[in-house]
Amino acid sequence: AVKNQVKQGADLKGKLKEVFGYGQFRGVQEDIIQNVIQGHNTFVIMPTGAGKSLCYQLPALVLPGTAIVISPLIALMKNQVDQLNAFGVNAQFLNSTLSKSEMNRVKKDVISGEVKLLYVAPESLTKEETIEFLNKATISFVAIDEAHCISEWGHDFRPEYRKIRSIIDGLGVQVPVIALTATATPKVQQDIQKNLQMDDASVFKTSFNRTNLYYEVRPKHNTKKQLIQYVKQRKGLAGIVYCLSRKKVEEIAELLRVNDVRALPYHAGLDPHVRMANQDAFLNEDCDVIVATIAFGMGIDKPDVRFVIHFDTPKSIEGYYQETGRGGRDGLEGDCLMFYSYDDIVKLEKFNKDKPVTERDNSKQLLQEMANYADSAVCRRKQLLHYFGERYPTDCGFCDNCKHPKERFEAKNEVLMALKAVVQTEERFGLDHIGTVLMGMNNPHVESYGHDKLTVYGQGKDHDAQFWHSLLRQTLLAGYLEKDIENFGVIKIAQKGIDFIEAPHSIKLTKDHNYEEEVKEEQE
Ligand code: ADP
Ligand code: ZN
Repeated sequence: AVKNQVKQGADLKGKLKEVFGYGQFRGVQEDIIQNVIQGHNTFVIMPTGAGKSLCYQLPALVLPGTAIVISPLIALMKNQVDQLNAFGVNAQFLNSTLSKSEMNRVKKDVISGEVKLLYVAPESLTKEETIEFLNKATISFVAIDEAHCISEWGHDFRPEYRKIRSIIDGLGVQVPVIALTATATPKVQQDIQKNLQMDDASVFKTSFNRTNLYYEVRPKHNTKKQLIQYVKQRKGLAGIVYCLSRKKVEEIAELLRVNDVRALPYHAGLDPHVRMANQDAFLNEDCDVIVATIAFGMGIDKPDVRFVIHFDTPKSIEGYYQETGRGGRDGLEGDCLMFYSYDDIVKLEKFNKDKPVTERDNSKQLLQEMANYADSAVCRRKQLLHYFGERYPTDCGFCDNCKHPKERFEAKNEVLMALKAVVQTEERFGLDHIGTVLMGMNNPHVESYGHDKLTVYGQGKDHDAQFWHSLLRQTLLAGYLEKDIENFGVIKIAQKGIDFIEAPHSIKLTKDHNYEEEVKEEQE
């Protein structure tokens, strides 16, 4: 038996070279492939770029019959199939972009046994005629790509994914399943295994640590100026700038262009031809920076992306980590910069208002975790890996919080002022207004509510808006204040805050870096 395995190992390596042109397996690829070939259920959790596709592509070539690959994005499907065809592999796809006769041809090829991999969109999979057709085919195994789409706790839930198990069960014969994802917190992982009924699966989870990525978070403050400077310091290097809205994408791409950066926009609202042309320009180095919504990037394999910027605060740590993961795939350094503002969090929460309750609560939880991460003074890598259920015992030395530890200061007096300001303005306002009152500034609101008559008015004039914003945020996260669930953005006092006002105690908070001053120093 040992001899057999050795021989099979040699064959697999031969196939790897012959078909894909690679000399070596990467990491645990070979173990995973063996596991699938032996007919075991398999669960693969590896970061983006680790080489998950090969883990089902190679077994599909070796095993008799057709492997069914369930993949969520139609655009990606064609890409993958084209690539495989270029390697001389008979792979095809089945989705709504095909005509009736094209579909029939694909089905015929599959039933005749020629096709080694068939990519299917989950919504096609649930169709009666597809199920009928699958019953006639010889299926080697089912691969479920982007398996986190199964879980409501993930950032990319797709209801059709929940039907996959019953469809597989309906096939009549037992086929092994391989599920793959790049984003699985322990909770999502459990959910996937439970839903797919694969508690027996062999789990292959590699570390999510991307040692060559540098993580940095800056407060949103003169953000455009900071962005231009950051990108210009990396002139000629490839980078991605993520924005939350299409409008913002257009605006930022234009902003970079007028600042002599070769930048192009990418979002789902663009004409498909323009979108493809812009993507190709980025891949072919005819443009350096692609400014995009999160529609960009899945399945795009550009090894030399040197920086990934989140111009707006992302919706979840999972999404953020996947997007930053597109940097430095060649193993060389990649810089990940995220701009953070509490206003973004509030805005994103508002978008969730119309969602069903459980989904809304979940999104809110994801957002809160994002805010905690952004505000924290702890090693970024430690936090990120912890989020994915890994322990990282030391500080990494390669993130903003390790390289430039935030200054901590005694904030007893300021916290007391801030809490009193919330109480005196009757818990009816957001962070900005509270800051305005503390600084003793004037605006129509201040006057019409008579807030210039309050005792806290102007008490905090020694500090600027950024300071108060940061302090209020930290106080919020520490549980002295809380957000009004009914009124997004409105800050209320929590019991812990009431206790603090009665008996103030020492409290250490961190100061935001002042990037504008750093910018000036560098220029001098
Ligand atoms: P993932 O799905 O995990 O994000 P991919 O399957 O897209 O990763 O693989 C990322 C890149 O690594 C691709 O360009 C792929 O061709 C390449 N790759 C995968 N396995 C190997 C290998 N054994 N040797 C060299 N390159 C590999
Ligand atoms: Zn660190």
